[in-house]
Amino acid sequence: MKLSLIVPIYNEEKNISRLHHSITQTMTANEYNYELIMINDGSSDRSIEMIEALSQQDAHIKYVSFSRNFGKESAMLAGLKCSTGDAAIILDADLQHPPELIPQFVAAYQEGYDQVVARRDRDGEHILRKIPSQLFYKLINFNVDVDLVDGEGDFRLISRVVIDSILSLDEYNRFSKGIFEWVGFSKKTIPFKNVRREAGQSSFNFVSLLDYAIDGVLSYNNKPLRVCFYFGTVTLIICLLYILTTLIQIIFTGIDEPGYFTIISAILFLGGVQLFSLGVIGEYIGRIYSESKRRPHFIVERTNAEELKHD
Ligand code: UDP
Ligand code: MG
Repeated sequence: MKLSLIVPIYNEEKNISRLHHSITQTMTANEYNYELIMINDGSSDRSIEMIEALSQQDAHIKYVSFSRNFGKESAMLAGLKCSTGDAAIILDADLQHPPELIPQFVAAYQEGYDQVVARRDRDGEHILRKIPSQLFYKLINFNVDVDLVDGEGDFRLISRVVIDSILSLDEYNRFSKGIFEWVGFSKKTIPFKNVRREAGQSSFNFVSLLDYAIDGVLSYNNKPLRVCFYFGTVTLIICLLYILTTLIQIIFTGIDEPGYFTIISAILFLGGVQLFSLGVIGEYIGRIYSESKRRPHFIVERTNAEELKHD
């Protein structure tokens, strides 16, 4: 059995050698047959030089270097595309995904599970990260047809059938958390303790997480459009009722309506509802636009992986 370890790398010069050391230790201790696929996602530091130097010494290493930063999703996709193992394990370069868990992954795989997912707790995490994340899961599970679990991320083992099913999805806006769940197959969860980043900085901040959340909500189905539709319908019914009762009052009791408050609130409320709905529709149109361009997910600048050379 052969394992493909996939590591997306963006400005991780401080972590690469430590990561390589830690992976090599685990893999040789367990005598696994493996390849280590490192994807340099347009780093602006010395990451690629370090990866190339390592690949000269260690024949397990396959590397792919992008022409610019295409994002972690694209990096993972490139890794899966050039993986040749019976199963792939995706892990972060910052050692937040401890390679020591790999034997547990493999044991579960050998029991017959097609996906083995590490689930971390959020101990010691910054509150500005924790609360938006929890909100995100509430929002997304309301919207998405598959259940996403807080703490389950990209750190997982997926078998060849899962890899092939994921590669068969050709959408441009990729949201891997959902894609992994969407393809299905038997799944086992392994809990692990949250660890801090070894060195360097997280590349995700509050705004990029918010963008990520919106992507997650919108890249699944058209439920948000349905919500707009219901919202519009309810507003319309309320307005009609209001008009009707006011009219009846005017006819029978002849009250004169003090108009300012009602007019202003109607204008503002309806304006808000319309702008919100337009925003949702606009997001979908933007997505159709980017899907229809059929651009590649990434551009390879250099690589030593045969699989990607003729792509
Ligand atoms: N990463 C990447 N491209 C990006 C951003 C991040 O390949 O545009 C990689 C990064 O090098 C790391 C992993 O994705 O290996 C997770 O990134 P990070 O640690 O910044 O995210 P966090 O752990 O804070 O969610
Ligand atoms: Mg990290």
